Amino acid sequence: MHRLLLKRTKLKPGVYTGKLEPALDSAALVVVAEYHAVMGDSYRPVITSANDFSWHARFSKHYLNEAIDFRISDVPWQKRSKLVSAIRKSLGERFLVLWEHPGASGEHLHVELK
Ligand SMILES: [Zn+2]
Repeated sequence: MHRLLLKRTKLKPGVYTGKLEPALDSAALVVVAEYHAVMGDSYRPVITSANDFSWHARFSKHYLNEAIDFRISDVPWQKRSKLVSAIRKSLGERFLVLWEHPGASGEHLHVELK
């Protein structure tokens, strides 16, 4: 599952996904499928963070390998809200999906295991 995820996404340099919880691998593939629905099947979403940087104060789940961030700024603005809703719906109650800093610098999609 993890290898498949690496094939379907791009990692921002410095991002470490090696110890991700298997549930996150599965969730990330669901996220990829929803990006495809908006961006086309050849689009490879960029994972901007997993367990790697030291500034995840609010979201310590990154340190537990239970959270992953995706770049969303490549998605046309008017489609982002719909994409976020679709991802929330597909992932269901087990996951928390946050659209961080919409329209601002540092904007990204945060997905964590509850
Ligand atoms: Zn995050």
